[in-house]
Amino acid sequence: MSVFSSDSFDNHEQVMFCSDPASGLKAIIAIHSTALGPSVGGVRMWNYESEEEAIRDVLRLSRGMSYKNALANLNLGGGKAVIIGDSSKDKTPELMRAYGRFIDSLGGRYITAEDMGMTTADMAQVASQTKFVAGLEEGAAASGDPSPFTSHGVLIGIDAAVRHQMGRDNLNGIRVAIQGVGHVGYALAQELVHRGAEIIVADVVKDNVARAVAELGATAVSTAEILFQDVDVLAPCAMGAIVNDQTLPLLKCRIIAGSANNQLARTDHGQALRARGILYAPDYVINAGGMISVANEVHGVLVPHDEAMKMVEKIGHVLRRIFADADAQGLPTEAIADQTAEALIAAGKAEKSGRAQSAAA
Ligand code: NAD
Repeated sequence: MSVFSSDSFDNHEQVMFCSDPASGLKAIIAIHSTALGPSVGGVRMWNYESEEEAIRDVLRLSRGMSYKNALANLNLGGGKAVIIGDSSKDKTPELMRAYGRFIDSLGGRYITAEDMGMTTADMAQVASQTKFVAGLEEGAAASGDPSPFTSHGVLIGIDAAVRHQMGRDNLNGIRVAIQGVGHVGYALAQELVHRGAEIIVADVVKDNVARAVAELGATAVSTAEILFQDVDVLAPCAMGAIVNDQTLPLLKCRIIAGSANNQLARTDHGQALRARGILYAPDYVINAGGMISVANEVHGVLVPHDEAMKMVEKIGHVLRRIFADADAQGLPTEAIADQTAEALIAAGKAEKSGRAQSAAA
């Protein structure tokens, strides 16, 4: 089992392995970068098949958070944590409190929040042991559920992509296929219908589909068909790696813009989408809305809901710049996003080491 020689290792600043036999906690915390501020990212509880898989996941996800937080201009670095176990069976208040003590021991270099397998109630247990936690329901700057902010950001991103790719200044009559109508996908569907778009949906949970059909007039298709609809926009809001060698030749959309993380199975799929004339809104840019809301809480600022929604709309500017730069340089959109994030992080690092040197002088 290796960390430094892992393919996913990207000069992470710190990786901490946490064990608490009394509660059964086995966790890994990865701080990718604090160049732009304290590292922030969610904790995921997952029944990993191996420790290698957990290490890979935490290394990859923490780097992703550095990039997301840099491009959203949040003055925050990137980190992530994984707890090894089945959240439906192994998660207890004691385990979450033990996790909270490890977070506290990092003294604020990593601030944790919800990810898969976690609830606001779990974060309350963490908060009983440390102040370095966000995504809470209660507290001076509590920001609550990030999903409505994420879905609003995706709507703004779809609008920017439609303007760029189709030269349209509204979403009236635009056809959008949404894969997954859960927290983000359903709220996105609501906003799209409100803006006059036509929606096609699929979900593995039948009740979620029935709700979208009954309440929003959505057209339902099977989960096997949703990615291949003849639509203007495909909005993946369920799982990652939906653009892969098998799906690519069958895609009929003009734009891919949704909330799911890690939508491209491999980086070169970005180039393949560009070659096919499909505009891709890089996932970690378009799905940053929830993080923008959480960042206010991290910075201790209570921002009214409507104002936080307005802050999320800056995602539209960031995407417009990425689309324009990608066209100008003939590069895939996510390559432009990565380059921009890397430049911001490198500048933050240089500034930090400059400050450290002048303090030592
Ligand atoms: P969720 O669990 O509430 O919703 C996901 C939905 O997708 C569920 O209804 C699920 O049944 C459905 N689904 C799963 N597999 C499917 C399949 N093969 N085909 C069709 N539907 C399927 O999760 P969410 O909070 O809405 O997040 C959706 C995606 O966005 C996830 O990838 C998540 O990591 C990402 N994301 C979410 C947020 C947020 O604020 N919630 C922020 C950033 C990224």
